Amino acid sequence: MEVCKCNICQSSNMENLFKKDSWDIVRCSGCGLVFVKNIPCDTNLKNIYDAEFFKDGQKSPIEGLRFDDSPAYINASKRLEKIRKMGFSNGRMLDIGCSTGIFLKAASSHYDGVGLDISKYATEFATNNLGVKAKCGTIFDLNFEQKNFDIITMWDVIEHVRDPDKYIDKVSQFIRPGGLLALSTGNIQSLMFKVQKKKWHLLIPPQHLFYFSPNTISILLENHGFKIIKISYDGQYTNIGYIIDKLKRIHTKNKLIKFMDFFIKTIKLNKLNIYLNLYDVITVYAQRDSEDW
Ligand SMILES: [Zn+2]
Repeated sequence: MEVCKCNICQSSNMENLFKKDSWDIVRCSGCGLVFVKNIPCDTNLKNIYDAEFFKDGQKSPIEGLRFDDSPAYINASKRLEKIRKMGFSNGRMLDIGCSTGIFLKAASSHYDGVGLDISKYATEFATNNLGVKAKCGTIFDLNFEQKNFDIITMWDVIEHVRDPDKYIDKVSQFIRPGGLLALSTGNIQSLMFKVQKKKWHLLIPPQHLFYFSPNTISILLENHGFKIIKISYDGQYTNIGYIIDKLKRIHTKNKLIKFMDFFIKTIKLNKLNIYLNLYDVITVYAQRDSEDW
């Protein structure tokens, strides 16, 4: 039987936290990384990311909303503003897990951007509808030039990949010395997780395989030649209709949520955006060491 090891520190000592659906969630006794014990193979994972996955209101423009009013575009603009304030105001950008291309579109006035996503549906949407450069595949399939990018972004990606250590190693090869890596992921040390445990909205195996904390994500990045510049706990603009849909999926029999859904649609509030911060997502900005690795 294959021995299950921690992806960050290689320890095989781990404690069982609980089972979510049929998945064992464990915590490494060495570094504290939380993860799904038996990670499914690539083929099974790819099947999760069909067109429906990307029709989610946080990932695609919302029908009937002006593009620059969509929450995804507003969130992208806020993130880009932060990146510019850090001194990375132009250059070559790679957006890994670019989804339907909204971030790239928002970045296109300042950056020479290219996106990457495993979904054919999403990359075709990005190219045909938003006119941005997007390639279908993983970082291991594509032969970008080494040290090519000034900025690499990975919004809500690292928790999905099968081998974060190998992934970040590859990312570190494509970024130039002194370049910026910006990523976001759920925070397993958040109060939301501590209160909700297996009901936490980001605890969704097998879509999310790894659950990081500020400490474990820092170790992972530092292991590959990055220095952490800043970790922030930003909220996101989100659409009221999207929140209600998500609640409906979690609490399928709740009558109050069904009523709210009906009520909000009736008074046409479902397209309204609100700022929501549950303080359970970390945004990490890290700079590639200037020295050659
Ligand atoms: Zn570990």
